[in-house]
Amino acid sequence: MKVNHSETQQTIACPHCGHHLHITLDASNGDQDFFEECPNCCHDIHINLHLDDLDRTLDVNILSDDEQVY
Ligand SMILES: [Zn+2]
Repeated sequence: MKVNHSETQQTIACPHCGHHLHITLDASNGDQDFFEECPNCCHDIHINLHLDDLDRTLDVNILSDDEQVY
């Protein structure tokens, strides 16, 4: 998804249970890589934020490659 504001709210879907949650993104910090805890299933959601300097847009990637095997 693409957004044009420096700080914006996004709705993402949890890759583990599909629960939708709102996150606040701040593009002024550049690229970010962080985890949000899903309020529904309590799993960590790996969120990768990439700031494109050319057209001032944000790329938001929801990653699910961090699942732990028990
Ligand atoms: Zn979840």
